[in-house]
Amino acid sequence: MSINVALDGPSGAGKSTIAKAAAEKLKYLYVDTGAMYRAVALYILSSGKSPDDEQEVISALKDIDISLIHTDDGQRIILNGEDVSDRIRTPEISMAASKVSAVPATREFLLSLQKDLAKENNVIMDGRDIGTVVLPHAQVKIFLTASSEERAKRRYDELIARGESVVYEDILKDIEQRDYNDTHRSVAPLKKADDAVEIDSTCISLEKAVDRVIWIIKDAVAKESRREVPKVRPVVKGRKTPLFKRIAHEFLRLVAKAIYYIYLDLHFEGLENVPKDGSNIFASNHRSYTDPILISLKPKVMFSFMAKEELFKKNIFFTAIIRIFGAFPVARGKGGAEAIDMSIERLNKGYNLVIFPEGTRSKDGKVLKGKTGVALVAAMAQVPVIPVGIVFEGKLKFRRKVTVKFGKPIIPKEIGVDDCSPKKLRIMRNEIMASITELVEGNVNKL
Ligand code: C5P
Repeated sequence: MSINVALDGPSGAGKSTIAKAAAEKLKYLYVDTGAMYRAVALYILSSGKSPDDEQEVISALKDIDISLIHTDDGQRIILNGEDVSDRIRTPEISMAASKVSAVPATREFLLSLQKDLAKENNVIMDGRDIGTVVLPHAQVKIFLTASSEERAKRRYDELIARGESVVYEDILKDIEQRDYNDTHRSVAPLKKADDAVEIDSTCISLEKAVDRVIWIIKDAVAKESRREVPKVRPVVKGRKTPLFKRIAHEFLRLVAKAIYYIYLDLHFEGLENVPKDGSNIFASNHRSYTDPILISLKPKVMFSFMAKEELFKKNIFFTAIIRIFGAFPVARGKGGAEAIDMSIERLNKGYNLVIFPEGTRSKDGKVLKGKTGVALVAAMAQVPVIPVGIVFEGKLKFRRKVTVKFGKPIIPKEIGVDDCSPKKLRIMRNEIMASITELVEGNVNKL
């Protein structure tokens, strides 16, 4: 779902500067709706029509085609195939835009273009009626104000800096007139939406205002993602992996077993806790890269585990082996969604899934804090989690004592985890981590 930010307010409050800066920081699309009204005004004036004549404006609309394009120079506005971005920034166009925008047909004409942009992109859209009419369901609504004197001063400074000769009083009058037009028109008047956050930029710098806007957006996005509780997608047990894969896996397992039993002083405990069928999660502490293989040596069912994408690029032979051992690639920093989808797909296919909730290897053997990813997969798929503790003893390089301990399965429903809400995921994670810690360190340590 795209994130929509509506930024409304009177002329000269700093909307476009703030929206542009925030959009750039957040990598959102900036949509300047004022530029669209200005383009309509430009067409009306340059075709010799009057912006005061409603009928003339209405009949001209059918000849107008407006689009926004985004280039390295920022947003450009295209009127009937011509880039008019620079030509629309004159006081004459400002006043004409204010007039044509009071014509309901003009607003109707631009509405679908504005809505479409917001449907397809994360946008910060600035205007007058965005929070009230264009995007009434925007996740973030901000109403930016500043005193008319401060706004006139900013515009005056800007025009003087551009080398134009202007009179401050004229600009103030102009701003007050446009405020009046915008707030008093009958259709979509400038108005703060009830659920908008108001920012008065009279006494704060634009940089401060940008920071506040970004903070408000980030906070709303975080709230939004917390609201979206992932749905339970129970796994159907009993699927079998293809015979050739099982044979290849079994063969490799025998080879690995022989090597591991020679190289390590290997012991297993709690094998009675290992289910005979598949579609279980094995959640283990993480000591070495070989942990997934250690866990999958004894149980008969095929295993799967996620591995760094880079490992699949080494060579074809290595890739084939880790694939037979059930590894699937996960891109680093790709967020959890992809990994979770792949995990559930594997469980659905009947594989047992090895997950290391600590996320990284523990150097000293102490169990680290667990992440909630494992709880999320277990809660979504509603599958048992078998806690595993891998204990390395002594410092020998050869024949080091290693014990792989399987704990009692944790069934999500049995401990009240029947949905994926943050509260239930914490319960699940704590239960898993306590069991792993008990296996590794011999004591219960609920986090
Ligand atoms: O924001 P800007 O000053 O470029 O807008 C030009 C004019 O377009 C405004 O004075 C206002 O009348 C009109 N406008 C509008 N609704 C919007 C954006 C701009 O009525 N959403």
